[in-house]
Amino acid sequence: CSVESEEQVIEIAKAVKASGANMLRGGAFKPRTSPYSFQGLHDEGLKILLEAKKATGLPIVTEIMNQAHLDLFEDVDIIQVGARNMQNFELLKELGKCNKPILLKRGLSSTIEEYIMAGGNEQVIFCERGIRTYETFTRNTLDLSAIPALKSISHLPVIVDPSHATGLPWMVEPLTKAAIAIGADGIMIEVHNNPKKALCDGAQSLTPQQFDNVMQTVKKRVEFEGKILG
Ligand code: PEP
Ligand code: MN
Repeated sequence: CSVESEEQVIEIAKAVKASGANMLRGGAFKPRTSPYSFQGLHDEGLKILLEAKKATGLPIVTEIMNQAHLDLFEDVDIIQVGARNMQNFELLKELGKCNKPILLKRGLSSTIEEYIMAGGNEQVIFCERGIRTYETFTRNTLDLSAIPALKSISHLPVIVDPSHATGLPWMVEPLTKAAIAIGADGIMIEVHNNPKKALCDGAQSLTPQQFDNVMQTVKKRVEFEGKILG
């Protein structure tokens, strides 16, 4: 979820890369509901992400919360706009001017129509991270139907974040399989080398070993389905 230290990020980056991950996402600026929660390492966190990129070659993805920070994001490969900022139109307008792909997370209570309008740019990747419903078993409710819906009205890629969608590490694997089966272009999973000690979202984070198990299962499934389709 968050950049905590150079050792933490580089250890996780190397592990997930070895398992087949092809991008590294970590927050340096964190949108937290409580002002007493860890807010991120800010510019120090961005430097650590760039170190991890140097060490592993993984492109980095990280969240922006304020357009005034844009200069700090110069070497970031993909800029994330979090669910809470999906309707921050001033921020979106500024990002539209910078020539970088944007990972746009769906707002907690946004319709697909609003989501598409917010993404009115050529370089947007949509991210389904669960929406707010009356259900409390999961942290949010993963709207899998949004994937074919978005694909029917836009050419933009759609990825799924089963970690924030459910808040439950054991649900990451089944929903990853479901997301791939329904046509998702990518999956974003929170991984921590010591989830119990994580400064943010430890309860939903997989260990590197659990992440590796998900990746192995998913790879087998994709190969198997490829054979059937082939
Ligand atoms: C995150 O990606 O760590 C995050 C804060 O997610 P969201 O904006 O979907 O709540
Ligand atoms: Mn998180």
